Amino acid sequence: MNSGLGRFDHVTLAQRVLFGSGDAARNLSLALDGLGARRVMVLGGGHRNGAIAQVLADVPVAVRFADVAQHVPADLVSRAIREAVAGDVDSLVAVGGGSTTGLAKAIALETGLPIVAVPTTYAGSEATDVWGVTTDGHKATGVSSRVLPRAVIYDATLTLSLPVELSTRSGLNAVAHCVDSLWAPRADPINRALAFEALAALDSALRGIVVEPSGLGAREEALYGGYLAAVAFASAGSGLHHKICHTLGGMFDLPHAATHAVVLPYVVAFNEPAAPALVRRIGTVLGAESGQAALDALWSAVDAPASLRELGMPERGVPEAARRIVEAVPPGNPRAVSVTDLERLLAAAWAGEAR
Ligand code: NAD
Repeated sequence: MNSGLGRFDHVTLAQRVLFGSGDAARNLSLALDGLGARRVMVLGGGHRNGAIAQVLADVPVAVRFADVAQHVPADLVSRAIREAVAGDVDSLVAVGGGSTTGLAKAIALETGLPIVAVPTTYAGSEATDVWGVTTDGHKATGVSSRVLPRAVIYDATLTLSLPVELSTRSGLNAVAHCVDSLWAPRADPINRALAFEALAALDSALRGIVVEPSGLGAREEALYGGYLAAVAFASAGSGLHHKICHTLGGMFDLPHAATHAVVLPYVVAFNEPAAPALVRRIGTVLGAESGQAALDALWSAVDAPASLRELGMPERGVPEAARRIVEAVPPGNPRAVSVTDLERLLAAAWAGEAR
C-alpha cells in the first residue's frame, strides 16, 4: 500500500536551542562558553524590561550597539561592522525582535562572526538562514549558512513587556510561516508536521496573550510555536504568500507583520481548490469546521487588520504589483497563478472583501 509520503530530500538546520523561563542569563553564558566567546558585541537589548537588562549580567561585553532600525538599513550595518572590527569582537549577541536579529545577520554575513540570538518577539528570524539588507529603499535578501544563529536562548519572561498588539502581530507573522510552508517549493512531510504543530501552539498562544497579557504559559507557547514555524519555513522555502508580501512591502513601504496578516487568508482561499486536504487539515488541527473558518476565528480573536487599504497601499498600485509578483511566483504552487488572478486577489485584499 502507498504511504502517501512520496519522496523527499529534507534538510533541518543545525542550531542549539536553550529554552527556559527565567533562565536566559544562565543559558546565554552556556551558549557563549560553547563558542569560546571572550569579546562579545551586544546588539539591541535596550527595552524597558528588567529581565532583559539582567540577561547580560555575565556576558564579557566588548561593544554595545543599541541602534536598531526596521528593514536593516545598509548604513547601519556598515557602522556596526566598523565598531565590531574596532572592538576586536569574537561573537555577536542579538537581544531583540526580528529587526535586531536581522542586524546581527547582516554583520555575520560580512564578517563570519557567530551569533547567539535572544529573541524578545515571536517573529522567528532567529531560526532561519535568511537575511535582508535595505539600500536606497531596495531590500536585498538572500540565504547563507553564515547568518544562522549558532544558538538561540528562549526565555518567555523577556517577552512580557511586548505589548499585546506587537505580540499578536509578530505571532501572525509566525502563522504565515506555518501556512506558507505547506505549499512552498521544498514542502515535505517533515516540515509540514512542524508547521501544523506550530500552528496549534500559535493559535492557543495568541488567544491566551490577548486574554491575559501577563500569563507566562501563553508566551512560552508563542516562542515555541514561533520557533517551529520558522524552522518549517527555513526548510520549506518561501511560498506564494511571502512573494506577495515581500513585493508589496518593498513597493509601498507597508508594515511587515500587518501585511502578512491581511494577505494570508486570501492566499489560502486562492490555493484551497488545488490543495483542499492541506487547508482542511488547518481546520482539523485548530478544531474548526474548515481552514478558512479557523483562520477567520483567530484573526478576529486577535483583532487583525482586514485590508491593505487601511495599511496605506494605494489602490492604483494593484496592477503593477500583480505584474511584479507573477514573475516571482514559486514553481510548484499548487494552483497556477496568472496576472489576472493576482489582480483579483490584491483588489480583494485591498478592499478587505469577504473571501
Ligand atoms: P521588531 O524587531 O521590529 O520589533 C518590533 C517592536 O517591538 C520594536 O519597536 C522593538 O523595539 C519592540 N520590542 C521587541 N521586543 C520587545 C519586548 N520584549 N518588549 C517591548 N518591546 C519590544 O519586530 P519583529 O516582528 O520581531 O520582526 C520584524 C522584522 O523581522 C521584519 O523586518 C522582518 O522582515 C524580519 N523577519 C525576518 C525573518 C527572517 O527569516 N529573516 C523572519 C521573520 C521576520
